[in-house]
Amino acid sequence: MLKMIGVETFYGKIKALHGVSLAVKAGQLVCILGANGAGKTTILKTICGALEPQKGTVVFSGQDITAWQPDKTAKQGMGHVPEGREVFPFLTVKENLEMGAYSRKGKNEIDADLEMVFHYFPDLKNKINLQAVLLSGGQQQRVALARAMAPRPDILLLDEPFSSMDSELREQLAREVRHLLRRDGITAIMVTHDQHEAFAMADQIGVLGNGKLLQWGNGYDLYHRPSSRFVADFIGQGVLIPGEIIDDNKISTELGIVSGKMT
Ligand code: ATP
Repeated sequence: MLKMIGVETFYGKIKALHGVSLAVKAGQLVCILGANGAGKTTILKTICGALEPQKGTVVFSGQDITAWQPDKTAKQGMGHVPEGREVFPFLTVKENLEMGAYSRKGKNEIDADLEMVFHYFPDLKNKINLQAVLLSGGQQQRVALARAMAPRPDILLLDEPFSSMDSELREQLAREVRHLLRRDGITAIMVTHDQHEAFAMADQIGVLGNGKLLQWGNGYDLYHRPSSRFVADFIGQGVLIPGEIIDDNKISTELGIVSGKMT
């Protein structure tokens, strides 16, 4: 569904992505996990065409989209929920959901989109004429998600979609969104700095550090077989101790000899 091959994106002279390659299959829910400034938002902006990479290729549904422009994304099958709660507080829920759509769509299409919104988030139906400012944080975020999901994009790009919520609400909405994406087989790439969120939501996780994709795998692999010290530090909750390799399956440490299958 989506591939990045050796992508390098710059801000002026600052290189934010260093040769990022990844592949997302249709129906997969993928998380890019990284600390602040790792380059998560830059990955999403590069995919949706808001930034053009200086090197590498982005392929979406078999088409080279490296030089896309952002205004084409909605038409061409991407839904993007940028970081922050992107709702207009003094517009109603309905106006927020329709925002921008009138320039691209007829009334029938907009009505169909609204039906999809209620399909995804039925609770919004009786709030449709309320100003967004009167909704809770979780409900506002549902509006932002619903706006991106309603046109049934081929791929949904979610930038820290739960970061502005308290932990209970965050878990609840994360579960709900995962259920909806799964139920309707929606392909999604979510970026987050929250390891628990990534582990709970994703089929595949990419660990990003300083603009480099350091490891790609499921939660079990990342946790049990980190490919580098950086990933072990970032993912694990253990303690790193020095050791000396004795043979293919044994390491001598100050706690004794540790054996196990190593590759
Ligand atoms: P956060 O979790 O804080 O949102 P992030 O992982 O999304 O961080 P990016 O926003 O992609 O990281 O930024 C990656 C790098 O690019 C950082 O070093 C950042 O300082 C730099 N950067 C981002 N936007 C710009 C910009 N407009 N101009 C210059 N440098 C930028």
